[in-house]
Amino acid sequence: MSATFERGYQALKEQIDTPTAAYLQSCVHCGMCAEACLFYTETHDPKYTPIYKLEPLRKVWEQEYTLWGRLGAMLGLKQRVTDAELADWKELIYDSCTLCGRCSLVCPVGNDIVAMVRKVREGMVAAGHAPAGQIMASKRAVTQGSPMGVKLPTLQAQIKRIEKDTDVQIPMDAAGVDYMVILSSMEIMSFPEYLTAIAKIMRQAGKTWTISSEAFEATNSGIQIGSSDIARELVSRVVNAAEKLAVKTVISPECGHAYTAIRWEGPNLIQRPFKFQVQHILEVLDEFRQQGLIKTAGFEEARLTFHDPCQLVRRGGVVQQPRNLLNMVAKNFVEMSDPGMANWCCGGGGGLSAIEEAEELRIKVFKRKKDQLDELKVDTLVTACANCRNIIEEGFEAYQMELPVVGLTEMIADHLVTTSQT
Ligand code: SF4
Ligand code: SF4
Repeated sequence: MSATFERGYQALKEQIDTPTAAYLQSCVHCGMCAEACLFYTETHDPKYTPIYKLEPLRKVWEQEYTLWGRLGAMLGLKQRVTDAELADWKELIYDSCTLCGRCSLVCPVGNDIVAMVRKVREGMVAAGHAPAGQIMASKRAVTQGSPMGVKLPTLQAQIKRIEKDTDVQIPMDAAGVDYMVILSSMEIMSFPEYLTAIAKIMRQAGKTWTISSEAFEATNSGIQIGSSDIARELVSRVVNAAEKLAVKTVISPECGHAYTAIRWEGPNLIQRPFKFQVQHILEVLDEFRQQGLIKTAGFEEARLTFHDPCQLVRRGGVVQQPRNLLNMVAKNFVEMSDPGMANWCCGGGGGLSAIEEAEELRIKVFKRKKDQLDELKVDTLVTACANCRNIIEEGFEAYQMELPVVGLTEMIADHLVTTSQT
């Protein structure tokens, strides 16, 4: 037995706390989680049933923590989890799970399957069975500050270009301001219009803000790959920068899991409360709307719908804010089937977009989103996650669909009333 496998086995064993043991015992095998998971509904392959993906964890629990499991192992009736089994399970734990949480939402006995998939990932990392793409992204995040290798000079070049092409200013390292904005590297590279939109909105709202040159990256590869140590290190960088600049609020960008990482997991990871507040950009915009700080003019004429990013809406609870904002600027906003908390994943969350060998399956399960959109016959799709946006655009290309995908923050900024100050 290799030392790496033993490390992975021990890591899996250590992940089994009281709630996990209760989850594993309480499954009534109803199959509802299968019908909630797009990897099962789009393939009908029983191996993609969410609870089945947790089989290695269940086996470790049975063997280590139940009398029957211990007896069975002693009598040679039960097989211990093997290294080959963990290698086989990589596809089920990474390539076919986006951590979307739809399975956890429907489970009648309240099993949080996502939390357990995350626990299995901790064991897989320790056992050396994480996907190569995610390992590379995590290494870049730790050593270069960004999973895509985006460094400060690249951000500075984008800022310079935005300031030259528009009339906005983007402050860097300003202390004592209202907001510190963090960005996903995908926004910096592919959707810089998000940054322009923030600058316009802050100017109209009369708020002070900044970006930190020491911690501008919001993406947390540690959460995706399943390494609490990496997740903690990446959260700590943002926390240290925000506390050094003494900002009041950190704004999580249009990125689903970045919000989960900093807002819901961050204080637990560093084991203390933050000295600042964390809000998603849509929460901030909706507050500005309520306080009358942003004024918009005109409406989108297109028939449009909203794709709910899983980590933001289902897992994060930001459900009504995007709808309030859309109604501010759109006359023909229509909901998808299964809107809000129950919406279907784009198929590329949870780090899956970084796994090259999962691409074929990802495109296959995108059929669910395609079907949702086909029945609506919309002209535009709006969302609030750069990763969803990227994955959806790739899905459209694969299915030869022509539909613009727009970020909600950008759409709001496009409708701001322009005055001499704004
Ligand atoms: S979290 Fe989403 S993708 Fe993962 S098993 Fe559950 S429903 Fe399937
Ligand atoms: S929905 Fe819950 S109880 Fe039903 S099979 Fe899945 S995990 Fe078990």
